[in-house]
Amino acid sequence: MASSHQVLLYYYYNKFPDPEAYCKEHVELCESLDLLGRILIGNEGINGTVSGTPENCDAYREYMDNHALTKGMEWKIDDVDKHQFPRLSIKVREEIVPLGLKENDFSPNECTGEYLNPEQWRDMLDGEDTVIIDARNQYEWELGHFEGALLPEVDNFRELTDWVRERKDQWEGKKVMTYCTGGIRCEKFSGFLKKEGLEDVYQLHGGIVTYGKDKEAKGEKWKGSCYVFDERIQVPINQTPDAETIAKCAHCGTVSDRYRNCEWSPCNCRHFCCEACETKTRGYCDDACHEAFLGSFASSALCE
Ligand SMILES: [Zn+2]
Ligand SMILES: [Zn+2]
Repeated sequence: MASSHQVLLYYYYNKFPDPEAYCKEHVELCESLDLLGRILIGNEGINGTVSGTPENCDAYREYMDNHALTKGMEWKIDDVDKHQFPRLSIKVREEIVPLGLKENDFSPNECTGEYLNPEQWRDMLDGEDTVIIDARNQYEWELGHFEGALLPEVDNFRELTDWVRERKDQWEGKKVMTYCTGGIRCEKFSGFLKKEGLEDVYQLHGGIVTYGKDKEAKGEKWKGSCYVFDERIQVPINQTPDAETIAKCAHCGTVSDRYRNCEWSPCNCRHFCCEACETKTRGYCDDACHEAFLGSFASSALCE
């Protein structure tokens, strides 16, 4: 059966001379096609993920594929049964993936790591003298990652620059491999690694989501699932019998990849929580959040 909606994931590094004007135009386009999702536009290009009906997604792709600024862009397309975003948000940003390089910023079109397709990537994973770096945030790799990858304990992409500078000496002379969800962060991150003096730098072309669909690579050596930035939250990658869940409940440590946001709204932190613990904790990430909730209730009752 044909599905009623699709999710598109895409990016393109290219010089956008007037991001503001392009943004205005783009809002009109996406609204007319009833697309929902998040799009960032900057001088360095465009980065987006949207959902819509297959007809409207086709029309959108046709428009982008014929536009001088985005011609040649690659699309990741998933079938889904409904919109995967609550609204449409299109914004102009200095960096479409924030590595925070400011005056040292550069275009991946000038400097980036060597691209590996899924099969090449899988084969190199087993090689000697390799370092594999997960270029994503902790809340993403906790859900799934490549076997043997270095997993930076960072909350955002910007923190990766310091993380690299503290360790890069250990990687000299090795093959440095890096990957992210759809490939956009690695285009820049692998370029950054080269600018930091590392010579042998490789990136997974099309990212984890492409790897998970490849018929040859079959998602091999991937543990867990892959965090995605829409309402699905996670998608499967490993198509082999070795596929497993690796995330653990934050309360009791049993294997569970159920994401919950803390019930205490000022906290709202995202954590894994198994069903049994959700009943026990009533959805609070820890005792402090539960007490804070009870405390707020008590003080409002005093009518101060
Ligand atoms: Zn639990
Ligand atoms: Zn909390």
